[in-house]
Amino acid sequence: MENERDAETPKRNGRRRLVLFPLPFQGHINPMLQLANILHSNGFSITIIHTTFNFPNPSNHPHFTFVPISDGLSETEASNPDLIALLSVLNLKCVKPFEDCLAKLLADVSEEPITCLISDAILPFTRAVAERLKLPRIVLRTGGVSSFVVFAAYPILLEKGHIPIRDSRLEELVPELPPLRIKDLPVIKTSNPEALYEVVNSMVKETKASSGLIWNSFEELEQPALNALRQDFPIPIFPIGPFHKHFPTSSSSLIKEDQSSISWLNMQEPNSVIYVSFGSIAAIDKTEFLEIAWGLANSKRPFLWVVRPGLIRGSYWLEPLPNGFLENLEGRGHIVQWAPQQEVLCHPAVGAFWTHNGWNSTMESVCEGVPMICMPCFTDQLVNARYVSNVWRVGVQLENGLERGKIEKAIGRLMEDKEMRGRALQWKEKANLSLRQGGSSYQSLQCLISYISTF
Ligand code: UDP
Repeated sequence: MENERDAETPKRNGRRRLVLFPLPFQGHINPMLQLANILHSNGFSITIIHTTFNFPNPSNHPHFTFVPISDGLSETEASNPDLIALLSVLNLKCVKPFEDCLAKLLADVSEEPITCLISDAILPFTRAVAERLKLPRIVLRTGGVSSFVVFAAYPILLEKGHIPIRDSRLEELVPELPPLRIKDLPVIKTSNPEALYEVVNSMVKETKASSGLIWNSFEELEQPALNALRQDFPIPIFPIGPFHKHFPTSSSSLIKEDQSSISWLNMQEPNSVIYVSFGSIAAIDKTEFLEIAWGLANSKRPFLWVVRPGLIRGSYWLEPLPNGFLENLEGRGHIVQWAPQQEVLCHPAVGAFWTHNGWNSTMESVCEGVPMICMPCFTDQLVNARYVSNVWRVGVQLENGLERGKIEKAIGRLMEDKEMRGRALQWKEKANLSLRQGGSSYQSLQCLISYISTF
């Protein structure tokens, strides 16, 4: 098939083209575009197919070709707070426009030949499309390997009755998946639990049926999970992360980054600031927001806090904050709607990261040696937080409700813990080493490039 296509297609510049299809959420767009940059710098041309919902700004990436497809989402569907319902509808409505678009790209003989498709694991419908078009498909899973292994164990977890989760068993260890407790299992509130199982099971099944699997992780960080995966998944596996540390790339933020974050950090003492951000999707109640605000204020430490519009349920932005809250702190607190997070985390003033443990945030913190306060909200964040606090031991987890006194104590404990900071710096070093010539991610990337070249 490939040879037939090659015979009738003039290769421009001898380059080969990869088509990438990200899931349209910030935590998936960022790693997909970082991967696109890594592959582009290794000689591939890049085409990004994207939905009209939540699309990255093409002018930040002039070296890629962006091709929009109409996802057909209604306004109500696009703003559905039930993430599982939104994922299910995306996976239905994108099939035809995606297939038409990919078929058109394949038929375009004026461009370089397309070598393969790289699609997000949570777009499982792309397996059947790629198969129909006879195009190899590699999957990018943007989460961690350790949490994926838990998703792959969903059938067992259901069979053993560990999920759906029962409140009476939250603290019990899951014998099949140490060191996870029942409350660390990757679930999410949804109006339709069956839809959650369907999303997870088809992600796992169609990932297994792919031609290869790329991870934004590195061997040293997740070796046991990678070994378990290699036993169960008979496909080539490429842990080539941390993606964002291969080289600096332009931002793929969907919200404008507030650069005052950096000028404010420039005025703070080294290792003194708590950076607080819960990513692009998680939401909290007004009461939780106020406990966080008072916990930060009472900690007496400087803080940079990302309060994304929509973070607080039922509010637009900072309305619940008491009048004069920030003014009374006399410059000790700075709140922005969106920060240049990678730059923030490598700023010398930052001493801790209070995070929801999305995988990108977790990796970005690990790579800068910044200890974490973990406040996972749903799905893989729960597993990531357990690994951060219990396996890699570079963070403390806030558990059993948000309360200002507990928050103040956790901040104090983390900021004073020199051993934890030492361990965090060791992980930073390991992440850096993995990318150097001969390092595990460096080698894995060479394998990935050779592998793609065999298609
Ligand atoms: N991010 C950012 N500025 C912010 C908050 C987050 O640039 O103020 C980026 C962050 O660096 C990460 C991504 O948004 O790359 C969030 O992904 P993650 O997996 O941590 O969480 P999600 O948003 O998917 O829950």
